[in-house]
Amino acid sequence: MTPKTDLKNLTLPALEQFLQGQGKERFRALQVFKWIYQQDTHSFDEMTNISKALRTELAETAFISNLEPEAVEQGSDGTRKYLFPLDDGTSVEAVLIPIEGRNTLCISSQVGCAMACEFCLTGTFKLTRNLTTAEIVNQIMAVKRDLVANPPSLLVEQSDFEDDDSDDVQPESPAAIRNIVMMGMGEPLHNLDNVIPAIQIMIDGNGLQLSNRRVTVSTCGLVPEMGRLGREIPNVNLAVSLNATTDELRNRIMPVNRRYPLKELLKACKEFPLPGRRKVTFEYVMLGGINDTPDDAKRLLKLISDIPNKVNLIPFNEHEGCEFKAPTRKAIDAFHKYLIDRHVTVITRDSRGGDISAACGQLKGKLEKQKTA
Ligand code: SAH
Repeated sequence: MTPKTDLKNLTLPALEQFLQGQGKERFRALQVFKWIYQQDTHSFDEMTNISKALRTELAETAFISNLEPEAVEQGSDGTRKYLFPLDDGTSVEAVLIPIEGRNTLCISSQVGCAMACEFCLTGTFKLTRNLTTAEIVNQIMAVKRDLVANPPSLLVEQSDFEDDDSDDVQPESPAAIRNIVMMGMGEPLHNLDNVIPAIQIMIDGNGLQLSNRRVTVSTCGLVPEMGRLGREIPNVNLAVSLNATTDELRNRIMPVNRRYPLKELLKACKEFPLPGRRKVTFEYVMLGGINDTPDDAKRLLKLISDIPNKVNLIPFNEHEGCEFKAPTRKAIDAFHKYLIDRHVTVITRDSRGGDISAACGQLKGKLEKQKTA
């Protein structure tokens, strides 16, 4: 018996093909797709504009998967961390960052990660497996459901994920997700076969209806895959975790650099098809005493100056068993000021969600051990 197809693994064109392969009319695909993404339906029985016979037939060959969080933790700053158990006993996390009533959701693309960056907790768990397309979009759908049930209170703060050229400053419904950032567990470009269809579903006007300018893919620097992403999904935002300004240091803290050194990485950034006034986001984890000096700031500026850029400074979040230290306030401020003074758009990320281990590089896809009283 062939296993049933999870329809959430299929983009709309793929769903059309799937149904056509079963001798069904093409327009049925759009009906089903809308039920899935706009009505959040998990059962064919609810698809009332489809004949009972067809629903029964569909249920024999297909199913619609779902994720439910096993735990939702809310931090003092309103950040929410969701732990999602998966079918095979593994789990992943997603983090919701509500800012000014504009919600940004940080989602995972893999269970664990193979990139082995020295400073990243997720990296210490190695790669268990890729998430499926369904598991990627299901993180978004589950959080949407939670937002409707428990809308966050409005927090007025600057957002690091806003597009610069957004002119609609009205807060949206507290239950709407505005930005998706693929900055959770995993390296999205190491799982492009599933990430690309997931993004297509996110930005499909009949799917999750997100604007492609509000979807950001973050990479440690897989150069050929950056090219493929740009070709297959033009207009998506690119973030690159740069984190070092010399090959010597980057080789040491990010093994990916031994394959794709800075020169190649920056060339790929330059060639990435960004429309209009959009910029590549360079993430820079500041490691105390390692990459946080004025010389680093100077080299950083030089490296990125011929690419439309903005910089996200992320003070290192310390975690057990990791030798690196957070930078001092003074080092952060000096680095930030150096760039601002030279007209670079810089945001220094506060450690959002720090109290619930939801900050950058702290996701491990497991519940914290219960604290004993
Ligand atoms: N693999 C992708 C997506 C993960 S994004 C990428 O590397 O871009 C996660 C971000 O958090 C990356 O910019 C990473 O450099 C940063 N990061 C990892 N560990 C961190 C830590 N302990 N403190 C602060 N930032 C960290």
